Amino acid sequence: MSLLRQPLLLLARSGRVKQLVSTMPVSAGIVASYVPGETSESVVEATAGLVDAGLLATLDFLGEDTLDAGQADATVAAYLDVLERLSARGLTRSTEVSVKLSAIGQKLPVDGEKIALENARTICRAARNAGTTVTLDMEDHTTTDSTLGILRELRKDFPETGAVLQAALHRTESDCRALAYEGSRVRLCKGAYLEPEAVAFQERLDIDKSYVRCLKVLLGGQGYPMLATHDPRMVEIASSLASRYGRAPGSYEYQMLFGIRPEEQHRLAEAGETVRVYIPYGQEWYGYLMRRLAERPQNLSMFVKSLVSKK
Ligand SMILES: Cc1cc2nc3c(=O)[nH]c(=O)nc-3n(C[C@H](O)[C@H](O)[C@H](O)COP(=O)(O)OP(=O)(O)OC[C@H]3O[C@@H](n4cnc5c(N)ncnc54)[C@H](O)[C@@H]3O)c2cc1C
Repeated sequence: MSLLRQPLLLLARSGRVKQLVSTMPVSAGIVASYVPGETSESVVEATAGLVDAGLLATLDFLGEDTLDAGQADATVAAYLDVLERLSARGLTRSTEVSVKLSAIGQKLPVDGEKIALENARTICRAARNAGTTVTLDMEDHTTTDSTLGILRELRKDFPETGAVLQAALHRTESDCRALAYEGSRVRLCKGAYLEPEAVAFQERLDIDKSYVRCLKVLLGGQGYPMLATHDPRMVEIASSLASRYGRAPGSYEYQMLFGIRPEEQHRLAEAGETVRVYIPYGQEWYGYLMRRLAERPQNLSMFVKSLVSKK
């Protein structure tokens, strides 16, 4: 792991740092490179451009860890609004939405899980009516059981709901086995959160080895794997495992984040692979930006420049 990853993720938890960083407008260089806009209009425009170029998309209305029921309701309303706009533009065959349960009530002190489940149902229903799907993002390990429990409930009515599993966690290979059944959409990522040794691999090599073990389970299983990584080695290994397990293009997909290795996204799509771009939008970009910086401390100088010039 990069020496800076841990301090950056710890710093990201400071309220004072958040206050300072959040004064940057979304148009500031570093923010704009990861987040195409604050409004649903701007994200739908960005999506249309990518879809025209042969890519698929999943949209994330930024926000997390809400302790305010009104904020959770506003997030649900934002998803309903963007789904309607996607539908009006004819984009729902190519674009789904990604939802963080902590943004729609999971952490509310009273009945949080119940509220998050009901809110997720509302979004899943709207997505289905619009002709698309929802994937539940995975947050830090303290939420894994709760998120997978809510996923199980949701899948009773909306079996198309996607799950996310993080290779960094010790438990994930076994979670992959449990979720590798027919029709099960599973995004595999390395994991973006600072996790303790008791539950997670700490070294990059161990996380990568776990990612490969999970690839084998998912690609060798009956579900629909969604391989979320920018790591050239993981992409290469995924591609050879897909051939080994007789997976045709379209029976799995690659996923990458907006603004990260866009040339690779286009290269894979041109080679006939299905590629989906995760596009975050909205005003609550702080936590997302800090996780991206922790993954790529080389971007720190660009970050400091954006902070100083505040343009
Ligand atoms: C579609 C998608 C959805 C995700 N959903 C979740 C989720 O629900 N929960 C969760 O915990 N995590 C999620 N993640 C984040 C993921 O867990 C990793 O933190 C992140 O993808 C970096 O890991 P990597 O596999 O790209 O490999 P890394 O080894 O971190 O990176 C490999 C290479 O990618 C490039 N790269 C990586 N990060 C950056 C960056 N920030 N800026 C520029 N270049 C970069 C560099 O070339 C780097 O060498 C998601 C990632 C993707 C792509």
